[in-house]
Amino acid sequence: MEAQAAGAAIDTGISPFRDDLLQRRRVLESSSHRDHSGELRRLLGEVDAALHRIETGSFGSCEVCHGAIEHELLGADPLQRVCLECLSTSERRALESDLELAAEVQHTLVPRGGRSVAGWQAFVHSRAAGAVSGDFADLIEGANGDGLQFVIGDVAGKGVSAALLASHLHALLRSVATLPEPLPRRVDRVNRLFASVTPDRAFATLVWGHVTADGHGELVNAGHPPAMIVGHGGCRQIGSTGIPVGLFAGARYSSSSFDLAPGEQLVLVTDGVTESADAGDREYGVDGLWSLVSPRDLDAELPEVAGRYLADVARHRGDRPQNDDLTLMVLRRDGRTVAPWTRAQRATSSTL
Ligand SMILES: [Zn+2]
Repeated sequence: MEAQAAGAAIDTGISPFRDDLLQRRRVLESSSHRDHSGELRRLLGEVDAALHRIETGSFGSCEVCHGAIEHELLGADPLQRVCLECLSTSERRALESDLELAAEVQHTLVPRGGRSVAGWQAFVHSRAAGAVSGDFADLIEGANGDGLQFVIGDVAGKGVSAALLASHLHALLRSVATLPEPLPRRVDRVNRLFASVTPDRAFATLVWGHVTADGHGELVNAGHPPAMIVGHGGCRQIGSTGIPVGLFAGARYSSSSFDLAPGEQLVLVTDGVTESADAGDREYGVDGLWSLVSPRDLDAELPEVAGRYLADVARHRGDRPQNDDLTLMVLRRDGRTVAPWTRAQRATSSTL
């Protein structure tokens, strides 16, 4: 998700950095009596130098090229004095290996490809715009074959800071996923926890739902692109049932219910799909996907259907690079995907 709010932090929001640095200073000072190596004194000096840069207006500008330091870099380390471009080769290599490690951890957290769980088939595709992603997805099987929970989420912003928040939100969600309370109350709880520990202006959209083996489902859509239900008789959308999480700790969420017959499916995407823009800056939009999904999709295997959706987004984007994290999840209830009479009818019509 693009984040105007987070992007403006350097220009207009120096004070969070000042508060952060002052807080770090207090911690360092209270520990300085245990400083045998001189490391604390060195850090204290660096914190003071950063505070001085804030006072003199040079905070956030690169000491080598005088360009702006990437805000992911500053967010992770407010003592940073050079931009990514100007980091020495060894520093850059260390940073790259951190990113590779983070990407690896993320890769193990998000299920990818196809799998079959609790009477449902699932297919997940997730691709980061950079090394790490602010998107996340999860499938959580209930105890005793008690249905399946599914989640797709998108933290505002890109790069390392968004990825860290996404991992954090994902962990929060996992920690309350099995609480014996209604789904909307669990989302209330995740929102409250996320809002209380995240930096100002950080927020995320998500769809969190569960389905049972007999096809009944319920989902909360917190400011996320609509979920699309593809049924044998037609398609429908389930839009927002609440605001993005992380904005207001006291927000309350509600849910929507749905039922899927055997072979019917649910399609979820992040805005990396809907906001994919072509050369003329036209976004793919919810409408792009909406015009694509069809009951005919239910005749094909899940990886093929997901591949068709992704190919259409890529076709729309053309030569433009993918500039946002992109995730797609398709869930289909097990069962015959084509009624016997439909097969027979099609065979007849094709021989005519
Ligand atoms: Zn530079």
